[in-house]
Amino acid sequence: MQTSFTPAQLADPHVAESEKILRRCVHCGFCTATCPTYVTLGNELDSPRGRIYLIKDMLENGRPADEEVVTHIDRCLSCLACVTTCPSGVDYMHLVDHARIHIENTYRRPLIDRLIRSLLAAVLPYPARFRAALVLAKLGRPFAPMLKRFPALKPLGAMLDLAPRTVGRASEAARPGSNPAQAAKRGRVAILSGCAQPVLDPGINGATLRLLARLGVEVVVPEGEGCCGALVHHMGREDAALDFARRNVDVWTREIETGGLDAIVITASGCGTTIKDYGHMLRLDPAYAEKAARVSALARDITEYLAMLDLPKLEPKRLNVAYHSACSMQHGQKITALPKNLLKAAGFTVRDPAEGHLCCGSAGTYNILQPEISAQLKARKVRNIEATKPDAIATGNIGCITQIASGTAIPILHTVELLDWAYGGPKPQKLAGR
Ligand code: SF4
Ligand code: SF4
Repeated sequence: MQTSFTPAQLADPHVAESEKILRRCVHCGFCTATCPTYVTLGNELDSPRGRIYLIKDMLENGRPADEEVVTHIDRCLSCLACVTTCPSGVDYMHLVDHARIHIENTYRRPLIDRLIRSLLAAVLPYPARFRAALVLAKLGRPFAPMLKRFPALKPLGAMLDLAPRTVGRASEAARPGSNPAQAAKRGRVAILSGCAQPVLDPGINGATLRLLARLGVEVVVPEGEGCCGALVHHMGREDAALDFARRNVDVWTREIETGGLDAIVITASGCGTTIKDYGHMLRLDPAYAEKAARVSALARDITEYLAMLDLPKLEPKRLNVAYHSACSMQHGQKITALPKNLLKAAGFTVRDPAEGHLCCGSAGTYNILQPEISAQLKARKVRNIEATKPDAIATGNIGCITQIASGTAIPILHTVELLDWAYGGPKPQKLAGR
């Protein structure tokens, strides 16, 4: 694609990067076929190619974002299916990141939208606040149908609908400290305890700690670590996202330089995609660029780390598991066969739902901010999963777990919970009676 940025515009490193990305696009449109919003809405402006044109026009003309651009960029899930499909290697992820920052800096959203976004940014990344909000959500749930009658308040209704009916106790795994290896020591890793995940499903990091300890891996939860920043990053709040990133880089760098780390293990693929991008996010910060690149190089999804430990092959179990590959896993991190191979080696029968490349509609805060498109994608995803007639569903991202669980009675677990059980841990409560 030809571009016509001026030398003055290209002096801005963000614009210079976006220009390089734009020039790779050859307008072929292959990406439209795998874009969940294009498949759902059928509008070219809700396809990757359409959004690329909108972003190009906005940046090239140095214009503030307008309502049209905001509407179509807001509808993008950042699922990155287009990146997987694109034959020209267009780095849509960093292009849309730039567009979101530009929108945040130049567009004044309606008041209710601003308030809801500020509320999400102030609550979700902080486990204590999020836990308190979920308790309040239980009280507010009866008002959800009424809120959904007003277009501007639909996100609040969606938030109440998505809140789990019970809020578990805080996870031991989220507490700072060291979890020693219980067998001959094979490694030392840090685990990202995370923000929303330990509140919504504390069992995931618990299973990770148990399994790694039995496999001879010491796991540390360093003091001071927090949200990876993905939630605010996807809202275009770059300063806040970089603050989260810097804090984690500092904490992990201290750990690398004192006890040494073989990996930074992440159990939510949405966070994994962001942490693997810290090197890029902080590339322009001379005080952090090198440290951030080192952290990104050490980041591993839990399944990537487990695959390095050569787990033994186990006898087949009578449990059919539909594997849902989160977008951040398959498109963001390009981890596709690995989790399924681990499940198969552990004795589970793994089933692949149709249209596995399509997002379930969770996408961070998307299911709150775009509840209608999200609900359509969820229904499609659940239909495809249920068609495989599984006993359970496995996936590697808490967002997908919450989203899919709200649409089906089939139990959905994190892959590591099934692996922990298969390799000597307790049977997950969600599978009781199966
Ligand atoms: S597939 Fe790639 S090159 Fe083709 S239109 Fe989409 S982004 Fe552009
Ligand atoms: S990130 Fe997903 S929703 Fe956004 S343009 Fe690409 S395929 Fe479509």
